[in-house]
Amino acid sequence: MEQSGEGQLVVVATPIGNLGDLSPRALQVLTNADVVYCEDTRRSRTLFSAHGLSPKSPLQSLHEHNEAERCAQVIERVRAGQLVALVSDAGTPGISDPGERVVAAVAQAGLTVTGVPGPSAVVAALSISGLASERFVMEGFLPRKGSERQRRVESWDLEARTVVFYESPQRLGATLAELAARWPTRAAVVARELTKLHEETARGTLSELAARYGHHEPQGEIVVVLAGVVVSRAVDDDEIQRALARAFEEGASTRDAVDEVAAALGVARRHVYQLALERTDDED
Ligand code: SAM
Repeated sequence: MEQSGEGQLVVVATPIGNLGDLSPRALQVLTNADVVYCEDTRRSRTLFSAHGLSPKSPLQSLHEHNEAERCAQVIERVRAGQLVALVSDAGTPGISDPGERVVAAVAQAGLTVTGVPGPSAVVAALSISGLASERFVMEGFLPRKGSERQRRVESWDLEARTVVFYESPQRLGATLAELAARWPTRAAVVARELTKLHEETARGTLSELAARYGHHEPQGEIVVVLAGVVVSRAVDDDEIQRALARAFEEGASTRDAVDEVAAALGVARRHVYQLALERTDDED
């Protein structure tokens, strides 16, 4: 962070469980800030007092219900030269937490926004998942039900990147069962209570994980990491076409050929069906 004396908004990451994960620089910024905006002032006060940190001025709230109206106030303070810090209850503000709007507003006003990076459950889970981490997609919390959820899940049929999402303990079992019904053998990791006393990382196929968490509802906070579709489309489409051709030669109906090839190659039925339709179009 530049100590230029000019006002700025500093987005400060705080621990996702283990208090020791508050960085020295985060402590420094929170101590020096003219004002600290918090998702929940009581939660932040607990964190700050655990670190013997006394903010310069009373903590201000900034949560999903007042973020829009707080923007003007934050802009005014930054413009007046203040060092304004923003924290959420845990992890990095703006990541499935308030912050995005105020950051956008301050940036749009041409003012400086900077950050003290640190814990975030999405990165913490991905980094210990053992699944491909070079390219990933963060889905936040899934819509609870309805067509939006359906569309989101369907879009992972062909998702080559690793998928990460947050889930509640009450819904974990049902969500894993829903995903396992679609892709039983797809690899996934459930990361629970990261950095805390009862931290647990469960790895397996979706079927295995659905069975594990179908029996008992876990406690605590959870991130699910789902493997991307592992195959390269270019190579695979040829392979799928060859398998379809063989099935058709043996007299299979489109439906049977698609089922057979999807199961044999472990690829999404929807994709195989699409390729089967393309074959039929070509033959017309
Ligand atoms: N801003 C936070 C971040 O950067 O990770 C995320 C806030 S979001 C409201 C809270 C969700 O993050 C939880 O419901 C859980 O899915 C996930 N989460 C937070 N802390 C976690 C932890 N210690 N272990 C596993 N998941 C966690």
